[in-house]
Amino acid sequence: MLSVRSLTTEYAVPRGPAVKGAIDVAFDVEQGKFFTLLGPSGCGKTTTLRSIAGLERPVEGEITVNGRVVFSSSKDIFVALNKRNFGMVFQSYAIWPHMTVFENAAFPLQVRRLPGAEIKKRVTKVLDVVALSEFAAREATQLSGGQQQRLALARAIVMEPELLLLDEPLSNLDAKLRERMRFELKRIQRELGITTLYVTHDQAEALALSHEIAVMNEGRVVQIGGPRAIYEKPATRFVAEFIGISNFIEGVVVGADNRPGLFRVRSKLGDWSAASDAPLLPQARVTLSIRPEDVELSETPFAGINGNLCAGIVDAKIFQGDSIEFQIRVGDQLLLARTHPSLRTPLGDSIHVRIAPEKCVVLGTQR
Ligand code: ADP
Ligand code: MG
Repeated sequence: MLSVRSLTTEYAVPRGPAVKGAIDVAFDVEQGKFFTLLGPSGCGKTTTLRSIAGLERPVEGEITVNGRVVFSSSKDIFVALNKRNFGMVFQSYAIWPHMTVFENAAFPLQVRRLPGAEIKKRVTKVLDVVALSEFAAREATQLSGGQQQRLALARAIVMEPELLLLDEPLSNLDAKLRERMRFELKRIQRELGITTLYVTHDQAEALALSHEIAVMNEGRVVQIGGPRAIYEKPATRFVAEFIGISNFIEGVVVGADNRPGLFRVRSKLGDWSAASDAPLLPQARVTLSIRPEDVELSETPFAGINGNLCAGIVDAKIFQGDSIEFQIRVGDQLLLARTHPSLRTPLGDSIHVRIAPEKCVVLGTQR
């Protein structure tokens, strides 16, 4: 539905080389899906979104929506912002203070001079969707932060846009409200089936909301995949570090394992089996990523169970209520494990470690 190809943008800087905002960015969003651009501040998310909206003119690339080219550097096409029919909500959502909730939501339709009856019908429906019907007659400024945010969303979807563009719309809300709005947003998107491009630096938000995520770093897309794939099979160290917590183990490839997709990797923890989608050559230096919840611990040996095994000493532990984090020292390597709080091994005791080979992920070497 939305297709972005080799998108590159530049910002002119006085007396200096131009700053690249997005570099060779490419992705596709299917009809009705919730797609997220995720990455740290300054990685090019807003620039990419603004380019799609028509607020920014890229120096290179092509953007297609429903088969219609809205930007192409090679064909010299640039469709103006008001001809793109997209809904937008930004971090600093502006509601109009001297209007009621109804008037705020109706505004985009009034600008387009729709008949009054049609406006009434559409606004009634959209206020119902964002659960603001009972506040229709209220001054917009009398709404809470979360309600104002929903009103901004109502205004963006009232024109029934073919594409909804959201740039960190929840980041001005407090933590509790932000979490509740996640559910609201997901419900609204599902109910309307509207194709949505979402921008956030918050990994939990991206995992909770998205069908697919493009992780960005320094202007580039580094990995595209579903929330589970991004978390469980990070392509690079950057992705593994940015999304969640991981153990990183340096090693050298010894050879292929006898099972497809697995390789033998020698590290300070032993000769282990590890998973890689890409083929690996013997002697290659690699980094393994292991999530703390995939480090299994036991006070007795894992007899008769296969997998990567080693033994260590409990170096530190932190009780977290629903889980407990153990720091295990294996030689001079520290391993972080998250496990059920029922495990109560004291500090200094020895403990056995097992990690399933498919949970030892060989990272790619690019940033
Ligand atoms: P994000 O939204 O991921 O935080 P941005 O897209 O806003 O990142 O910015 C990407 C890069 O472009 C950053 O290096 C930023 O400093 C630069 N940039 C963004 N807007 C401008 C601008 N108006 N002028 C110059 N540089 C800019
Ligand atoms: Mg931004």
